[in-house]
Amino acid sequence: MGDREANIAFAEERLEACPQIKSLRKASIYETEPVGYTDQPDFLNTCVSFLTTLGPEELLDLTSGIENDCKRKRTIRWGPRTLDIDIIFYGDETVDTERLTIPHPRWKERAFVIVPAKDIEDIGVPIPEGSGVRLYRSRV
Ligand code: AMP
Repeated sequence: MGDREANIAFAEERLEACPQIKSLRKASIYETEPVGYTDQPDFLNTCVSFLTTLGPEELLDLTSGIENDCKRKRTIRWGPRTLDIDIIFYGDETVDTERLTIPHPRWKERAFVIVPAKDIEDIGVPIPEGSGVRLYRSRV
């Protein structure tokens, strides 16, 4: 919702400003049609990767704070929102706590995760064909 690119830039700037984060790499930005609740504008998706000394839960605290500061308003599940940040991988560690599942349980089903992730990291899976993920702004 809103200025979709500005919301992504907001999140990336906040991550880059964090002293415990460095070497941040940005994938291109892609546009995808909504899944589930389809009566809403298309989404922009991207991925970033970085080195961090934050633990997984600390990273979730950071990303949740960024989402809240972007005035996330979500009343419908899968529905419109200003910003949604998921932690897909944390190195090759697995995390399974009440708050956090890493790797993210649905990443392999989501072309809108795989396509941008492959811009910046070797994630070892092919790009799904006919995924409907459209390049919106090239950054790599
Ligand atoms: P959603 O807004 O649907 O992405 O769900 C957000 C909630 O999912 C957060 O409050 C987290 O506690 C939880 N969660 C579990 N695993 C993850 C993950 N890998 N990345 C982000 N949030 C996660």
